[in-house]
Amino acid sequence: MLSKKSVEDLQVKGKKVLVRCDFNVPLQEGVITDENRIVAALPTIEKLVAEGAKVILCSHMGKPKGEAKPELSLAPVAVRLSEKLGKAVVFANDDEVVGAEAKAAVAAMNDGDVVLLQNTRYRKEETKNEEAFSKELASLAEIFVNDAFGTSHRAHCSTVGVTEFVSESAVGYLMEKEIAFLGNAVNNPERPFVAILGGSKVSDKIAVINNLLEKVDTLIIGGGMAYTFAVAQGGTVGDSLLEMDKVDYAKEMIAKAKEKGVNLLLPVDTVVIQGFSNDAESQIVSTLEIPDGWGGLDIGPKTREIFADAIKGAKTVIWNGPMGVFEFSNFAHGTEAVAIAMAEIDATTIIGGGDSAAAVNILGYGDKMTHISTGGGASLEFLEGKELPGVAAVQDK
Ligand code: AMP
Repeated sequence: MLSKKSVEDLQVKGKKVLVRCDFNVPLQEGVITDENRIVAALPTIEKLVAEGAKVILCSHMGKPKGEAKPELSLAPVAVRLSEKLGKAVVFANDDEVVGAEAKAAVAAMNDGDVVLLQNTRYRKEETKNEEAFSKELASLAEIFVNDAFGTSHRAHCSTVGVTEFVSESAVGYLMEKEIAFLGNAVNNPERPFVAILGGSKVSDKIAVINNLLEKVDTLIIGGGMAYTFAVAQGGTVGDSLLEMDKVDYAKEMIAKAKEKGVNLLLPVDTVVIQGFSNDAESQIVSTLEIPDGWGGLDIGPKTREIFADAIKGAKTVIWNGPMGVFEFSNFAHGTEAVAIAMAEIDATTIIGGGDSAAAVNILGYGDKMTHISTGGGASLEFLEGKELPGVAAVQDK
């Protein structure tokens, strides 16, 4: 279990508690289109409110790059959060984040009140983890709680720097839950343990493939990254995504799987088209013999069956990255086949955030999974076996 101090270990009555949340939610014209991250933050906030803390929330949103960009204001989050909590959330609309307005809002707080600060990335110091802004953040509160799993792989002022200038720090419930699920799955899995990797690039997943080959019984690779493995096997892949400079690495990983006794499953057939559109005429070909002028957009029906069969026998499954260009409905079948297989089994099923989380939710299988991570990048780094700086910086129990 996590050796870090948790919200459960804190005495917060009457104290000011700064909570780093991950409210980096997708917005379309000011409207929140996916509130999962807000919902996931509620347990920690509700606990602190119930115990009579003065709860000061902070988060980043998008990449304003040190400028006050109105389209990346956290104002819509304050409104939605207030609805979800069923109580007022005061939005400190302060472009300095910790300027006069924010300080006044905090000074006016009673026990159990909630204030939300403006987007921490309005300050250019934030992403550089510069001391001055860390101190400003810390000056607002006695205790810091990090519940922003989705940003825990970044050493920023509001995730790492601030911990040095508060008297106490802890992780929140969401952070604990994420680490418990991902940590247990990777380090203490019920077997067979199957990992599924997809998405566009091998180069993004190099360390993950390498680390998972030490842990899993079966590693399934699909999506755009599979074509680099096809070339490593001596295949030709037409116009499919290919990273020539990663072919040797793919060869090494194929050899490593053999040496470790890991069942490495690669696509045997592929749905190919000419061009790049949902309506293009498609055909199904062997993944190792994709004709010139054609590119692979999804795994084929035989591969769907092989992958689904491997998933059906598992007791622990982790999935990161779609099997094809799932944004086009005609090429979402491979991704859906994996989602269905995971939804149907009696096993611990974990979705590692990002595109696969979006795909599972869009396709309607979200509530069938044991855990959907709120952090794509953070869960990938966790699967790489890296320590997350935002967790490491929190005080031990
Ligand atoms: P990533 O950001 O690396 O997780 O990759 C996700 C993206 O990979 C999605 O936008 C998919 O459309 C894309 N993708 C998956 N399979 C393929 C493929 N066969 N060709 C091109 N893009 C793909």
